[in-house]
Amino acid sequence: MAKETFEFQAQTRELLNLMINSIYTNKEIFLRELISNASDAIDKLHFAALTDSELTGGDTDYYIYLKPDKVNKTLTICDNGIGMNRAEVIENIGTIAKSGTKAFLEQIQKAKEENEGVNEKELIGQFGVGFYSAFMVAKKVEIITEKAGEAAAIRWESAADGSYTVEECEKTGRGTDIIITLKDEFCGDDAEQDFTDNYTLQRLIKKYSDYVRYPIKLDFETEETPKDENGKEIEGAKKIKKIETRTLNSMKPLWTKNKSEITPEEYNEFFKTQFHEWDNPMEVFHTKIEGALEYTALLAIPAKAPFNLYHADYEPGLSLYSRHVFIMDKCKDLLPDYLRFMKGLVDSPDLQLNISRELLQQSRELKTIGKALEKDILKSLERKLKNKREDYEKFWNEYGKSIKFGIYNSMYSGAGTIDKLKDLLLYTSSKEGKLVTLKEYTERMPESQKDIYYASAKDKEAVEKMPQMELLREKGIEVLYMFDQVDEFAIEALHEYDGKHFHSISRGELNLGDAESEEMKKETEEIAKESGDLMKDIKEVLGDKVAEVKVSARLKSGAVCLVADEAGPSLAMEQTFAAMEQNGAPNFFKARRILEINPHHELFARLKTIHEGGKDSDDFKDYCDLLYTQALLIEGILPENPTDFAAKLAKLMAK
Ligand code: ADP
Ligand code: MG
Repeated sequence: MAKETFEFQAQTRELLNLMINSIYTNKEIFLRELISNASDAIDKLHFAALTDSELTGGDTDYYIYLKPDKVNKTLTICDNGIGMNRAEVIENIGTIAKSGTKAFLEQIQKAKEENEGVNEKELIGQFGVGFYSAFMVAKKVEIITEKAGEAAAIRWESAADGSYTVEECEKTGRGTDIIITLKDEFCGDDAEQDFTDNYTLQRLIKKYSDYVRYPIKLDFETEETPKDENGKEIEGAKKIKKIETRTLNSMKPLWTKNKSEITPEEYNEFFKTQFHEWDNPMEVFHTKIEGALEYTALLAIPAKAPFNLYHADYEPGLSLYSRHVFIMDKCKDLLPDYLRFMKGLVDSPDLQLNISRELLQQSRELKTIGKALEKDILKSLERKLKNKREDYEKFWNEYGKSIKFGIYNSMYSGAGTIDKLKDLLLYTSSKEGKLVTLKEYTERMPESQKDIYYASAKDKEAVEKMPQMELLREKGIEVLYMFDQVDEFAIEALHEYDGKHFHSISRGELNLGDAESEEMKKETEEIAKESGDLMKDIKEVLGDKVAEVKVSARLKSGAVCLVADEAGPSLAMEQTFAAMEQNGAPNFFKARRILEINPHHELFARLKTIHEGGKDSDDFKDYCDLLYTQALLIEGILPENPTDFAAKLAKLMAK
């Protein structure tokens, strides 16, 4: 049959134009696409041969061969897969039938209609555009193909100028050769990327196609000095050129092996090389699911949290593969954000290689896989907490904050999140300074205690020195310590545990519930009545700095403390928001500050005396100010005017 010329479909022409004029920088993906086609073609032959063994003609030595040619500026990708006959070439290569490519074009069209600047660069990146991506780097593409089991070979050729030709030709053996005549900028030593360079090809295969299950071969030229009969190199002898065929890909994805065949060392090596980890992972999850939805997942909790885990520049997410061909990394929509520390990959034949990042991330398959993985991970953490406390605490020290963020963000991620996570929480407790769960805390709460008490400060030492802690310590009431900024926000979101409410020792009233405390409360009320004027006058001096000044029922040896109202935010929360304000967030979040004074402290008597000397005296004013500033300092908050504070203190000391 003679050579025939065909016009491309309008849509195909459009796509080709896009490819030829592409400004997309990641042009190297064309190689991934062509390798994946070759691998698919071998798969197809393999499956067809299961029922028709004649098809392979006894040759099941499958391969993909790369043949760069620097002189002719071509790169040829050969496979001995199923090949195509004439009708198939026209059907498969000449038209666009794929949903992914169609969606791609539609999106471009839509963007054009809406008159948006079409960001073609981004769009190509989001869509793998299959065979046509070759035209990003090619002047001309030829296909020479022979269908397995058929005699005739077909040659297809196009310079992407609107038409293509098809003719019969000669070929030795079944399969397909794709011959790409490279644009000048993609070959030669001055090229921005030289696709005829063995090492470039080797690197790209490692990056994108390492787990393709057929060998991807490439010839390397080596030189060898001839050796004498003793195997010693002959000095001065002319070197002999040798061709060495190397397989570029490792082929066997670790995750496709059976768990029982994989050693811990292999898992460790895998995560170190694939995910650039320094240490062996803390825990590895390897799951293989078969059924309506098929997938394999190989995930790990890295030994150490990256320093930027909670910064905006950290990119969480898993890698996705489809039939061992890499689709994308950092896929965020698989796992909830509180598992952002997980590393690993999911390989599923049910994920499509050729659809946009967006469509893929929203796909139902992905959601289902993600849900199942989340469940597995949480189950395993629960088991660890129950059976391997020490290991769990190690996990907690690295990633506990993520779990707390998960609770804090539960208002966005759905009501179920809190129930999933609350039993994974650990807090340092005032009892023995150990980490405890909320369950452990509530189970040993005395009958009379109604609330779960917690205290927040920057570290353990700071908490234990808080004046508010003293009384609780004396009464043997267990207090949970909170050191992270997110803690109090998470507690707010949690609201309660097992019907018990959380109560900050620095907020609202302390209702310790025992008889002794009741008595103390009464006493405080009496003193408060007597010193009503004093409190009123201190408040007047301090003005807007505090909302209220009170006689305290929570202090032992401390003279003063600053607490916040039960209803509003705490002081620590206020500080967090203030820090955010510096980063551009509005500071609408203010704690209602209450200054509490210990009526049993010597200072109280002195204060009374000075007050009696006149509420407008400088002495009284200085005293009030110093009291307030002390309370601020205890909370770790700097006074607005430290010099002023120092001056007043110095004056007092000099007296
Ligand atoms: P996809 O791989 O998603 O189907 P492509 O644009 O990459 O889309 O390829 C289009 C079609 O061309 C393939 O579906 C296949 O039928 C055919 N094809 C491409 N490359 C080969 C090849 N090396 N061997 C046999 N058929 C091929
Ligand atoms: Mg393809």
